[in-house]
Amino acid sequence: MRILLIEDERELRELLEYGLSRLNYKVTAAANANDALIMVEETVPDLILLDLMLPGLQGLQFLDIIRRKNQAVPVIIISARTGEDDIIKGLEHGADDYLPKPFSMRLLEAKINASFRRAGRGQQADSEKISSGGVTVDPESRRATSGDEVLQLTQKEFDLLSLFLRRPQKVFTRNQLLNIIWGYEVELVSRTVDAHVAMLRKKLGPRGSNIKTLPKIGYLWADDG
Ligand code: CA
Repeated sequence: MRILLIEDERELRELLEYGLSRLNYKVTAAANANDALIMVEETVPDLILLDLMLPGLQGLQFLDIIRRKNQAVPVIIISARTGEDDIIKGLEHGADDYLPKPFSMRLLEAKINASFRRAGRGQQADSEKISSGGVTVDPESRRATSGDEVLQLTQKEFDLLSLFLRRPQKVFTRNQLLNIIWGYEVELVSRTVDAHVAMLRKKLGPRGSNIKTLPKIGYLWADDG
């Protein structure tokens, strides 16, 4: 697995390079995002670790360029900016995860593994059945089950549940859910999302608690229960 690390602080960069290579990742490091763009042109890595505050091109600008090029490479932001607004912004620019500095190698490793797992699932054909936490959706028949029980879901609820199951542990902000599930054509308030999630939770019964609320941020599916 090839990881591209973008970090301008030399000490941290070297520490992470060393730590990650010990975990058997092939690490390429860049001290700024301009160099990193050239590197990505040459070879798209399997994962990018991205610092936000960089000399020259900023982390979020880099992320925008990558996502505009339609590159689905998982990106984990590593940043000393730990405010809720910064985290939401990062996720909305297309980051897969956000790791506030300072962090342990152990936590970084867990985040990297979770990202790889999600990326792997993302490659599943859209028609394949997906299961997580006792809940299964079958996109072909548009049938969803919770244990043995067949769920009676509306189209939007089904889409919402499918999205959650495809990307367990991935945080979705309300805006992202609105964009993905409802598209841009409808003007909706984020309460629409809340209302649909509330209904979906209710229909899932005890497994409804798999949908976790991140206050003020959004939702995620936890496959632990
Ligand atoms: Ca920095």
